[in-house]
Amino acid sequence: MSFEAEVSGTEPLLRVMSLHALEYCERLFYLEEVEEIRLADSSVYAGRAMHEELALEEGEERRSYTLSSTILGLTGKMDAMRHREGSWIPYEHKKGRPMRNEKGEPGAWPSDALQVGAYGMLLEEHLGKKIPEARIRYHAEGVTVSVPLDDTLRLAVRTAVERGRSLRTQKSRPPITEHEGRCIKCSLAPVCLPEEERLSKDENREPVRLFPAHVEGTTVHVVSHKARISKSGETIRIEGEEMEPRVFPVNEINSLVIHGYGQISTQALHFCASREIPIHWLSSGGTYIAGLTFGAGAVHRHLRQYAALTQPGVCLALARKTVLAKIEGQLRYLLRSTRQLTQKRESVRNSVQALRESLHGAAHSEGVEALRGMEGLAAKAYFESLPVLLPLAGEDFIPEGRNRRPPKDRFNALLSFGYSLLYRTVLESIIAVGLEPALGYYHTPRSTAHPLVLDLMELFRVSVWDIPLIGSINRKQWDPKSDFTITKEKVWLSETGRKKAIVLFERRLQESWKHPVTEYSLSYRRTIELEVRLLEKEWSGQPGLFAKSRLR
Ligand code: SF4
Repeated sequence: MSFEAEVSGTEPLLRVMSLHALEYCERLFYLEEVEEIRLADSSVYAGRAMHEELALEEGEERRSYTLSSTILGLTGKMDAMRHREGSWIPYEHKKGRPMRNEKGEPGAWPSDALQVGAYGMLLEEHLGKKIPEARIRYHAEGVTVSVPLDDTLRLAVRTAVERGRSLRTQKSRPPITEHEGRCIKCSLAPVCLPEEERLSKDENREPVRLFPAHVEGTTVHVVSHKARISKSGETIRIEGEEMEPRVFPVNEINSLVIHGYGQISTQALHFCASREIPIHWLSSGGTYIAGLTFGAGAVHRHLRQYAALTQPGVCLALARKTVLAKIEGQLRYLLRSTRQLTQKRESVRNSVQALRESLHGAAHSEGVEALRGMEGLAAKAYFESLPVLLPLAGEDFIPEGRNRRPPKDRFNALLSFGYSLLYRTVLESIIAVGLEPALGYYHTPRSTAHPLVLDLMELFRVSVWDIPLIGSINRKQWDPKSDFTITKEKVWLSETGRKKAIVLFERRLQESWKHPVTEYSLSYRRTIELEVRLLEKEWSGQPGLFAKSRLR
């Protein structure tokens, strides 16, 4: 191995910080440096705050000194350097505690030592003078430890740089770390899903929950046609005729949805774009029109997705899993809703039978067309049985099967509107995970909707919208007159109807349930994201858990 080769002008230098990640876990290095995924959790924020505070202090130190070297292949910003006994010494500040040896003496963690060693070598090259040591201040205990810049540490730094450069050329993610305890403190655990990966290798494992249960922030829906959306300081302001102005701090918004013809200012658009807040436009009837979403840095994820989803065998296998999950969801819901009443169960007997047959047929389908046939038969049986599940609805809300584009009755208008909201939610999760929504595995590409969104929506139609909607109709929460606009050709929701549907949908997304595979509780909103991440694991990481969750 040669360490003397200078990094070429086209190869970016490695960040010294990245050596810290590399020593901790190669997968973490890859996610951060190659895929450019960086999530700032509370400990990262606390660390940044500490560095900012320190930067405000003045003293004999030189602070935040940036150094780069094409010979070492490194660039980085030291926290500080001090002149001691004739030598400059790099200093690094750490929020946590030092490592302790068996005698209880404090020392540097290997990843921290690598980081300060790299700063020392950069400084050495810059000054042309030998740097004897570097120091790390561990603030949790107020302890400073010395790290000798000896040959062992120099070799470790150079070896790490070589390893980092080699990993950067790799197309696939390195495996998860064997040091399970490290994942608990890792800020990228919700992206990496190491526990879910371990579970898919050992189904008896009880995974530690590292995936967050809820999404922070709110989705802001703007329903009024006359609404004006503008930026005001660090807030988004919504005002208009016949409505009280509403102000939302930008850090509390995770998505903005404009229904109909509300106006948004260019400043507000720029502001949302700069904060990566997605904006979606839906028609008054609930059709998804367009979205402004963000997915920078996802090149590697797109390439892996493309490589997987251009293989017909992979697509068929994923489509089969999806259709099986969908039909089983419909079947379980039907059985669950008629469990107590023999008469009801008798009325849906044919549908239940048809769903069981479709399930069997889908499991043995040898092509996508056959799968579509089974899905179609199941959908027909499911929709035919829905009137039985609506005993308190009143005739205004009893559907005659499924109809759409345009919906011809109130039930179908509600169903279509909720599915549009679901489309937007699934799209956001796909973008957040870094997949390409236009590249799916089951639905036929068409210009009006992204195939991957339609593919994944199949997993959630029943649980996220059908169930709460049918419940709300049985509780008589809808006014057949004021909540709908009805013409000869179609039925759609009025402004009050849309508002009610949005509240019902968003409430459902916040509801928690116990995931039957991972056995931890999480909101439906997070469940959608989890499923997208598990889909990605089918081709990058450990497959096996995608589309396995079912209604209980
Ligand atoms: S969660 Fe664990 S395996 Fe994944 S990147 Fe972090 S430390 Fe590595």
